[in-house]
Amino acid sequence: MVIAGAGPAGAALALLLARQGVAITLVEASPSSARQFRGEALMPSGLAALAAMGLLPLDEAIRQRPLQGWGFWANGQLLFQVAEPMGGERPCTLVDQEALLIWLQEQVRLQPTARVVKGRPIVAPLRDGERVVGVELDDGTQVRGELVVACDGRASLLRQKSGLALSPLGEPLDVRWFRLSSAAAEPVADWLQGRFVTVLGGGDSFALYASVYGGVQLGWLKDPAGAIPATSADWRERWAQASPSELAKRLRAVPLEAIQGPVRLPVQVGRLETWWQPGLLLLGDAAHPMSPLRAQGINMALRDALVAARKLLPVLGQGNPDALDRALAAISEERLLEIRPIQAGQAQELGRAQLLRHNNWLRQLLVASAGWSGPLLAQRWQASQVLLRQGSATADVSLPDAAMMG
Ligand SMILES: Cc1cc2nc3c(=O)[nH]c(=O)nc-3n(C[C@H](O)[C@H](O)[C@H](O)COP(=O)(O)OP(=O)(O)OC[C@H]3O[C@@H](n4cnc5c(N)ncnc54)[C@H](O)[C@@H]3O)c2cc1C
Repeated sequence: MVIAGAGPAGAALALLLARQGVAITLVEASPSSARQFRGEALMPSGLAALAAMGLLPLDEAIRQRPLQGWGFWANGQLLFQVAEPMGGERPCTLVDQEALLIWLQEQVRLQPTARVVKGRPIVAPLRDGERVVGVELDDGTQVRGELVVACDGRASLLRQKSGLALSPLGEPLDVRWFRLSSAAAEPVADWLQGRFVTVLGGGDSFALYASVYGGVQLGWLKDPAGAIPATSADWRERWAQASPSELAKRLRAVPLEAIQGPVRLPVQVGRLETWWQPGLLLLGDAAHPMSPLRAQGINMALRDALVAARKLLPVLGQGNPDALDRALAAISEERLLEIRPIQAGQAQELGRAQLLRHNNWLRQLLVASAGWSGPLLAQRWQASQVLLRQGSATADVSLPDAAMMG
C-alpha cells in the first residue's frame, strides 16, 4: 500500500502497519522534515495515542518539556491562570515535532517491509475504473498498492484530484507566527515561566510560549483582511501595548533582528463527511483541517493513524477489496465521532476569544471584576477544556497488544 505524506498521520500509520509486516511505501514530497515553524504542543489526547502505539516515553533525543500552565491577560491585567496538568494524568507537553517525525521515519525505514521515498511529490492518483490503485510521482514513477492513504495535509492534492469536497466550517482566519530568537528572548521566556500565555488588548490577540526549539514562539490572530503593521518595530510595539507592564518592558527590549517571521498560516477549518473512496482513505489534516486553537492537529492526526491501523490490519493483504472498503467506511465513521465535537469545541473557544478581542467594554468588565470573577472564569474554562485536552471519552485509542509491541 501507499501512504502519501510523512507528517504525524502518515509517519505514525506507516510505522504501525510496517511493524506488523505490511508492505508499505511512504512517499513524502519534501526532502527534509525541517520547517521554519512547526506545531509542538501535544495534548494528553495525543500523548495517549503515542502511549497506545508503544512510543512513550519518547526517545530521549526528542526534546520535550511539559507545559506549566495557561494564563490569560486582558488590557494588561491578569484574568486567570490554570496550572497543568489540570487534574489529568499527563500535562500538555511541548515536543520537538521535527525530531519526532525524523525519528518516526527512521523507525519506518528499519522495517523490512517498508520503503520510504523522500523529496518526490505525488502528482496524481492512479485509477482502475472507480478504484484508486496507486499514485504517480513527479518523475513519472508509478507506485501501486491495494490502498492509498492520503496524509498529505490541509491542501491535500489527493483530496483535490479525487473530487472530494471539504465542507468549510466557520470564517477563515489568519495566524501570523513569529519567533523571538533564543538569547534575545530569554527575559520574555523567564516571564512566561513555562506557561502558554494569551494576551488580549486594543483589538489584538496573540499567544506566546517558550518553544522547545529555543526562543519564544508567538502567534498573532488576525482577520484575513486584517493587515499587520509594516515594520518589526511596529509589531513589537503593538504586542507591548496589549501586554501587562512587565511583559511589555521585556518585549520592547527584544532586538528587532531577533524577531523572525511572520509566517502566515491561513486557516480554513473544514471537514470531509466521507473520508474514503474505493481504494483511497484520507486522514489527518487532509480529511479535517483543524483550527490552531488549543493545538489539536497533531493530536487528532495521531489518533486517526491509530484507529486506521487497528481497522486495516485485519483486512490488508486479504485480496478482498469489499472488506477493505468496508474498513475504510468504518474508519471514517469512527473518527468523525471525535472530530465533529473537537472542531465544535475549537469553534466555541474561538468565539469566546473573538468576543473578548472585539469588545473593550467586556474586557474592562472582566478586568474590573477579576478579583472575584477570575477563579470562577478559571473553573469554567478548565471545565470547557476537558474534550480538547483528553479527546472524546468514547474514542477507542487502543491497539491489539501485538500491534502495539511491533
Ligand atoms: C505554525 C503551526 C503551528 C501548529 N501548532 C500545532 C500544535 O502546537 N499542536 C498541534 O496539535 N497542531 C499544531 N499545528 C497543526 C499541525 O501541525 C497539523 O494539524 C498536523 O501536522 C497535521 O498532520 P498531518 O500528518 O495530517 O499533515 P501534515 O503535518 O501537514 O503533513 C503532511 C505531509 O504531506 C506532505 N505532502 C504534501 N503534499 C504531498 C504530495 N503531493 N506528495 C507527497 N507528500 C506530500 C507534506 O510535505 C507533509 O510532510 C500547527 C500547524 C502550524 C502550521
